[in-house]
Amino acid sequence: MIISRNPYNGEEIAQIKEYTKADIDKALDLADNTFKSWKNTTFKHRSDLMMKAAAELKKNKAEYAKMITLEMGKPISQAIAEIEKCAWVCEYYAENAEQQLSNEVIKTDADKSYVSYEPIGVVLAVMPWNYPFWQVFRFAAPALMAGNIGVLKHASNVMQSAENIQKVFERAGFPKGCFQNLPISSSKVEGILRDKRVKAATLTGSKPAGSSVASIAGEEIKKTVLELGGSNALVVFKDANIEESVKTCVQARFQNTGQSCIAGKRLILHEDIAEEFLESFSQQVRELKTGDPLEEETYIGVLAREDLAEDLEKQVKDSVKKGAKIVLGGKRDGTYFEPTIISNVSKEMPIFKEETFGPAISVSTFKEDQEAVDLVNYSDFGLGVSIFTDNEKNAEKLVSMFDDGAVFVNELVKSDPRLPFGGTKISGYGRELSEHGIREFMNRKTVYFHSFK
Ligand code: NAP
Repeated sequence: MIISRNPYNGEEIAQIKEYTKADIDKALDLADNTFKSWKNTTFKHRSDLMMKAAAELKKNKAEYAKMITLEMGKPISQAIAEIEKCAWVCEYYAENAEQQLSNEVIKTDADKSYVSYEPIGVVLAVMPWNYPFWQVFRFAAPALMAGNIGVLKHASNVMQSAENIQKVFERAGFPKGCFQNLPISSSKVEGILRDKRVKAATLTGSKPAGSSVASIAGEEIKKTVLELGGSNALVVFKDANIEESVKTCVQARFQNTGQSCIAGKRLILHEDIAEEFLESFSQQVRELKTGDPLEEETYIGVLAREDLAEDLEKQVKDSVKKGAKIVLGGKRDGTYFEPTIISNVSKEMPIFKEETFGPAISVSTFKEDQEAVDLVNYSDFGLGVSIFTDNEKNAEKLVSMFDDGAVFVNELVKSDPRLPFGGTKISGYGRELSEHGIREFMNRKTVYFHSFK
């Protein structure tokens, strides 16, 4: 039995019966059989259904958002925005998949030669709780549009949202086997990965989970895409627009109560503007509205589970023991963690070196550009970096110096259906979204025509 619990008040929301081996077998059979017909449907047909999924999300966004908030504590206004973004990714792929997967003609000495993008079959998606809808939709919308099939193993604390996602596709009219939620614990993932009917896997989550799934898939020679953790830096140069940068940095760190892989977790300030920046930043963080996640005005909710809040507390305490200074916050009450700012930070402190998954940010300073770049690249993670500067020429020069999968200038790192998303180093590999994402789980078939005439 998997228990779903509200992290704001500890109440049990539901008990979900785990699938047995026989249930999983039946689901994989359905998925595999559905693929045989689904792969031959037209883009027009798939696109019509995907637009219906978008419409369904928009129509019932209040219902879906409320369950997200109940299950993992996301403030309701942010949960609604998440559902709206899912509708956007459905529309984006409904409109663009056909063109993105059209044959790519390559001139050779053949009469005709080209690459044809063909679906590979059933893909297992192992997903995290922090954006319970978005993480799944950014995989499922391109996968289904491409003619693939999705089976989902969602995080144990958001199993009802997982059921709701299946409901969206059913309500839109997709055949039942196109997308199925499998209510299972992570111990059942290995058997599914090794099953012949499953052709590939995508995982969004932590390094241990990614490493385990990739090892098993590697043994089975199955493709994987991994979207893992991040410790993005927010670098503010002395020529930056301080007012606008402060606003953006607050959002970059504290939205979703800090539980985002692409959140800006390390603030790196030029020493000439550090004091002015930090004063304004602290003021705005102090003003963030905390409270019941179901209330419209709440910006900071609770962490999704108490053990996650405890992990963050330990990182803060260990850093303080090593000499870090708490500028703001630092305390925990159950699943609630105060918005926290920490200065006097060195590279070996957990608050800088590890991923912090909650509302806490480290502050460091630099003098020369190279110093800032070195601090950014010191991280084992490589998801993204934001730099704030008015000097576009210098920003362009800096872009190639960062190891990360994304560089955003004067903007927080965010995902957008039109742009590829993914990391380097222990943040993972492969890309989601855009034409890069939809091509990950395709057979890129080389086709060569020669005539003897
Ligand atoms: P997690 O513990 O790795 O869980 C993610 C998913 O993997 C869950 O469905 C989990 O199931 C499953 N899982 C855990 N261990 C597994 C194993 N050994 N084998 C197979 N499946 C396993 O991560 P989380 O705590 O939910 O999420 C936070 C992490 O995700 C952070 O590191 C964050 O940065 C990362 N993340 C990355 C991105 C990105 O796009 N790069 C986006 C969001 C989050 P159970 O819940 O049943 O354990």
